[in-house]
Amino acid sequence: LQRLRARLARSNSALGKGLLALLSRGRLDEEAWEDVEDTLIASDLGVEATEELIASLRTKVKIDGTTDEATVREWLREDLLRLVQPDMDRRIASSRVGTRPAVILVVGVNGTGKTTTVGKLARVLVAEDRDVLLGAADTFRAAAADQLDTWGARVGVPTVRSDREGADPAAVAFDAVKAGIEQEVDVVIIDTAGRLHNKVDLMNELGKVKRVVEKQSEIDEVLLVLDATTGQNGLQQAKVFSEAVNVTGIVLTKLDGTAKGGIVVAVQRQLGVPVKLVGLGEGPDDLAPFDPEEFVDAILE
Ligand code: GDP
Repeated sequence: LQRLRARLARSNSALGKGLLALLSRGRLDEEAWEDVEDTLIASDLGVEATEELIASLRTKVKIDGTTDEATVREWLREDLLRLVQPDMDRRIASSRVGTRPAVILVVGVNGTGKTTTVGKLARVLVAEDRDVLLGAADTFRAAAADQLDTWGARVGVPTVRSDREGADPAAVAFDAVKAGIEQEVDVVIIDTAGRLHNKVDLMNELGKVKRVVEKQSEIDEVLLVLDATTGQNGLQQAKVFSEAVNVTGIVLTKLDGTAKGGIVVAVQRQLGVPVKLVGLGEGPDDLAPFDPEEFVDAILE
């Protein structure tokens, strides 16, 4: 965890340092505020949140008059933390519900890190003593099921898959939940396909997976995987998924490879659901629960 914290701090420190330097440089003229705005926009915070933050900071500067670094840091800490919405519920449903396992659906555009996230999440849950089963319902991408099998073997959990390429994803999802119920596991995590070339197809496919799974069990969690490096573009794509299924949480991947941490704020505002997990690398231990305080501290480190 310490290592992940350091990685988060590294990726975000440019933003914090930039802001602190700008705001602490004495009298703040219009040009300085524009620079602050540019810095925030460049971090993918989004226009609305940027304007809110600047309005709040301007008021504080006006009232207080001082702009020494320690004061500014405290202001930024307060305002950023509020923007990150620390009161959202970020727990992941991972305990049995009555006589059935918790069911987690993982959705998102291909390449965002979906399969990797399923593997890493399984590892986190296994470390918490949960019995986990994986379902390889991404039957479109040929290598996806193999990739998931590899993760399953690495983490020590079984995988349900189809040997037929192009098999019906809903059928695989059904089989996975069925096996999860029979084997009395705690959690079933289902990897899904994320082709985005056709919005209607995608929505139909996800809708079908959802309906078929719900013949046996409720779906307790729908995690939307979003690549932090794709910024506002990725956000547009994410909206399509949130229209197709009821997303309950976001996994923001590749946060190790970007200084655009503001995307956390933007995505939560746009989709109205919390970022629950963050991906900070390609390895099996590079997934962490999203902690708002830690995140803001990393920016201002
Ligand atoms: P999928 O198509 O959405 O299932 O994506 P994959 O799980 O195959 O991941 C695509 C690529 O992103 C792989 O090379 C992963 O190793 C990489 N990746 C996934 N998550 C992260 C992350 O948090 N950080 C970094 N740097 N790379 C990641």
